[in-house]
Amino acid sequence: MPAQDVASQRRWGRISEQRAGQLQRQVQAKEERIVELETENAVLHLRLAQYRGTSGKGAGAATQLCSQCPEREPPRRSAALAAPQLWRRVQALKQDTEALRASSLEVFRACREHLQDGLSEVVAAVQRAPLCHEALLAWQSKAGRLERSLQEVSARYELERQKRKVLHNRLVELKGNVRVHCRIRPPLPSDEEFDGQASQDSSAPAGVVHAVDDETVLVRWDRPAHRSIHKTYSFERVYGPAESQQVVFADVCPLLTSLLDGYNVCILAYGQTGCGKSYTMLGPLSKDERGDLGIVPRAAGELFRLISENPSRSLKVDVSIVEVYNDDILDLLANERRPAVSGPPWEAPMTKATKREMSPPTRAPVRSAEDFIALAAGSLRFQARRATRVHARSSRSHLIITATVTAAPAGGSPEDGQSLGPRLQGRPAGGRASPGPPGAQRVGEQVHAKLQLVDLAGSECAGVSAVTGAALRETSFINRSLAALADVLGALAEHRDHIPYRNSQLTRVLQDVLGGDAKLLVILCVSPCRKHVAETLRVLGFGAQARHVQRGPAGGGGAAARKPRNQ
Ligand code: ADP
Ligand code: MG
Repeated sequence: MPAQDVASQRRWGRISEQRAGQLQRQVQAKEERIVELETENAVLHLRLAQYRGTSGKGAGAATQLCSQCPEREPPRRSAALAAPQLWRRVQALKQDTEALRASSLEVFRACREHLQDGLSEVVAAVQRAPLCHEALLAWQSKAGRLERSLQEVSARYELERQKRKVLHNRLVELKGNVRVHCRIRPPLPSDEEFDGQASQDSSAPAGVVHAVDDETVLVRWDRPAHRSIHKTYSFERVYGPAESQQVVFADVCPLLTSLLDGYNVCILAYGQTGCGKSYTMLGPLSKDERGDLGIVPRAAGELFRLISENPSRSLKVDVSIVEVYNDDILDLLANERRPAVSGPPWEAPMTKATKREMSPPTRAPVRSAEDFIALAAGSLRFQARRATRVHARSSRSHLIITATVTAAPAGGSPEDGQSLGPRLQGRPAGGRASPGPPGAQRVGEQVHAKLQLVDLAGSECAGVSAVTGAALRETSFINRSLAALADVLGALAEHRDHIPYRNSQLTRVLQDVLGGDAKLLVILCVSPCRKHVAETLRVLGFGAQARHVQRGPAGGGGAAARKPRNQ
């Protein structure tokens, strides 16, 4: 066989082999596909069987529903009938929904507007807040500044008040802690009468005592048959017969300021009977009496006026009124003394029961000047008086009116401690007049200062006043107590170690003001008449001696005698 044939045979053999391989693979794929389809077919059969079961159940249920339907109409027909109704309902529901939506939108819009308003208000408030805060801070700092300046002003006021107090006190001390004024009373009709009888020389002028100026008294009497009298006396102040009660009180007034500054004050009228002591000290106290008010009612008015100027200090005033009669101390405010109103006052027997020797006098609280004056006027009805040849209503006792100024109990007023006078802090003023009921000193109460107003009984010459019996005994006690007073002043003026306070009840009662550092004002009352000249000279001599007494800081730590200016 040719080679060409062999080669083509081989080629065809290869092609046949390839083709067979292809066919074999196609057959294999077909077989696999058949297996898949058979599997799907089985699954579909299975599903079909399930659907049939389900549709069978549905048909049964449908048949049951149909059987329940009253018209036994087929469901499709009833659905067709219900459809328009449902559609209408659906439409209505749609409309409702639409309306609801619209109103919801409306509400939403309103809410949003409200919210926006609120928000803008909040924003505005937040924006304003810093401004308000700034204004508040400004006010706060302004209030702080004002408070500070108020404190400064208060401190300065307090400082000025203290300075004023010190200066006022210095002024009073410069005038003298013991001051002596002299008052010449005007001539009275009774003087003429008496002078006419007593004097053989009717051509001589009745008036022999003159106020040369407001510090000098001249006693001048040129007697033809006797040695002439020509004496001059100097005092801190001399009042002529024409000078009014008001003028006299004007010089007393600064002492009341000292009283409220915490200094004890004593004003004492000294002189012959009938020379104007009671007139000067009291004046007419009741409405029946005519004339100008004296020192006691005016001082009461001034005291309460000063207290009312500073109500925060809560100062109170208690008054005690005693008389020293025949060397006994009688409490004119004591209850047992009151029944004596019915009888002639001084003639009522003064039993031992009415005596309150050195026992605390009754202290009556007074709330006004009127109370004070009424109390003084009421108690004066009990004071011992008697008609003498010199004076128809001669006081037979020394009258001592004490006004005790107290600060409110501790813890009552913050100023209590501060308001106490420099001399009185930590101790009761005056000391001896410890209070008795009623109006006794309250617990914790501090005595601020004491004011003593003294109307002494008149010194007199028994021969001139022509008294006898009980009146003579009274005169003797009066003169002895006045002599004791002169002795005390003399001892003080001479800086003696022993001061004879205990020689009389009068000097015992006045011991604090005489020996202490109280402001003491002695008002000498003298008659202008020649018939009284001897007693006038004695009174002026007493005043000159009193001027020598100087105590306290102004006196250089004790009693420095002033150079006497009297001739
Ligand atoms: P004393 O108390 O000194 O014994 P009084 O004060 O009772 O004296 O005065 C005696 C009389 O003198 C009284 O009638 C009184 O009115 C009158 N008298 C005293 N001083 C004055 C005066 N300065 N101005 C007017 N009358 C006075
Ligand atoms: Mg009198």
